[in-house]
Amino acid sequence: MVFPRYDLHCHSTASDGALAPEALLSRALDCGIEVLALTDHDSVSGTRELLAQQVDDDTIRIITGTELSCLWNGRMVHIVGLGVDITDSALQSYLAEIDDLRQQRARRISERLVKQGLPDIWQEAQKLAAGGSIGRPHFARALVAAGAVKNENQVFKRYLGTGKPADVKMQWPEMSAAINVIRDSGGIAVLAHPTKYDMTFTKLRLLMSAFAEQGGQAIEVSYPGVSPDHRRELEKYASENGLMVSAGSDFHSPSYNWTELGRYPAVRSESNHVLIPLLGLAASE
Ligand code: AMP
Ligand code: MN
Ligand code: MN
Ligand code: MN
Repeated sequence: MVFPRYDLHCHSTASDGALAPEALLSRALDCGIEVLALTDHDSVSGTRELLAQQVDDDTIRIITGTELSCLWNGRMVHIVGLGVDITDSALQSYLAEIDDLRQQRARRISERLVKQGLPDIWQEAQKLAAGGSIGRPHFARALVAAGAVKNENQVFKRYLGTGKPADVKMQWPEMSAAINVIRDSGGIAVLAHPTKYDMTFTKLRLLMSAFAEQGGQAIEVSYPGVSPDHRRELEKYASENGLMVSAGSDFHSPSYNWTELGRYPAVRSESNHVLIPLLGLAASE
């Protein structure tokens, strides 16, 4: 089987990405991507715009997607949903509720930043979010644009990162709810970037087994920043535990020059790849 060039994790202006869905699509075409899933945080509006583009399936296949923020044991984890039905009413009301929570959190983030002696950038952050899922990166960008902090990384380090003064805890849905809403809308639930949660591998195994027990179907095994050792561990874990594998760049912006669409280490185990059911391919082994 000849595997297509693909990217199953990226962001647009529908959440905290820099490119509009249309611009993202044309970048994907330039990068030679043949299968693309746009997975905006807690939103399917970018994916809806991509579907409306009516691109020829032979040029690029669009897979619907989203990346849901949720809690496992009180810690935030991200579950990507691939191939969801974006018209599903349960999915839509789930996303509408999170949008409300994000708006409430955004209000509190801006208050906390002001308490830290920073300018009130509520309006600017809203403008940057432009009606999409508002998140911490919009505040980081607004503070940099206002000249209050040198760069986005510094904003996270000092104010917005985990445990920092403007990191407003949000009561995200439980991981099981995220998995269920993805599966009930016909999608495949994928644990995103497992090694990016600041967990030991022992803890991570507990997360992955809870994820599988709750109906999770695949884990990302390749993405920028994953070490070769971890990549092998994740592939091994997936094949031993009946999980499929997925991969994606988590691309957010052309100015983040450490990521590009389709650029991440090759996945070795293709026989349990999530693209097989998504594209209706025949498994090779
Ligand atoms: P939120 O969805 O509001 O919780 O924001 C999470 C997003 O912030 C992630 O998806 C990343 O895009 C971004 N992010 C998280 N940590 C950092 C960091 N240290 N530096 C820059 N961006 C970050
Ligand atoms: Mn993000
Ligand atoms: Mn993520
Ligand atoms: Mn992401």
